Order: sequence, then structure tokens, then C-alpha cells
Amino acid sequence: MKILINQVVTLEGLFLEEEINPAELELETELIKFHSNLKIKAQVSRVINALIVDLNIYAVLAAACSRCLEEFEWQFNKNAQLSYPIDNSATSIDLTPEIREEVILDYPIKPLCNLNCKGLCVKCGKNKNEGGCNCGST
Ligand SMILES: [Zn+2]
Ligand SMILES: [Zn+2]
Repeated sequence: MKILINQVVTLEGLFLEEEINPAELELETELIKFHSNLKIKAQVSRVINALIVDLNIYAVLAAACSRCLEEFEWQFNKNAQLSYPIDNSATSIDLTPEIREEVILDYPIKPLCNLNCKGLCVKCGKNKNEGGCNCGST
């Protein structure tokens, strides 16, 4: 996502909306998958010699639960504010590296399908979220 500095002249600023394919930003990891594009909204305003960007980043992510190993989805929805000093030689600002950073910062280290996920039976491997198992383990 790029901002042309000349377009941000009025006090109301500029509103931009863009969808980015996560593959372009190499955002998928072994653990984290994307089930939608990244949807970016940016409200850009100008102060004396900087641009202030209020960002909203949305995507549907998926991962395998670290306890029960089932894949689950969740909605990533983050607001962030960025500011860029305006340098007279620059005509545009590329927000993409910061957008990527903001997403990766919020990746869970141990994804859980549910905070109360019961995980797998250590004896027979059954998913204990689906009820008790018959292996005799309590
Ligand atoms: Zn789970
Ligand atoms: Zn069991």
C-alpha cells in the first residue's frame, strides 16, 4: 500500500482501502495460514511535517491448535497508528513493510482453538473436547 504524499493536502486527509494477497508479503508460516486476503484501511492525515496513518488490518487466519491439533480459524483485526516524517525528496510512502510487521507481531506463539481446550488424551490420543474416551484414562 502506497501513499502519494501530494494527495494528502487537506485537513480531512485521505482514506485508502486495499486488499493484499498474503503471499506477496510472505506472511504464511508453518503454523499460521491465511484464509482471506489482508484487508487494509488507512486514514491518512498530515501534520506539520509528518503523515499520521491510522491503520486497520483485517484477515481470517487459521492454525492448528497447539493442544488438540485441530485446525481452527480466527479473525485478525488490529488497529495501529504509524507516523512518517515528510522528507522533501520523497513523493510517496510505502506502508507495506510496517503492515507486515504489525501482523507478525500479533501471531500467537501457542495457538489455542479455545482457552479451555482440553487437548488430547495422553493415553489413546482422542480429542477430549469431543467427550470422554474409553481407554480408561481419567
Ligand atoms: Zn484445541
Ligand atoms: Zn483416552
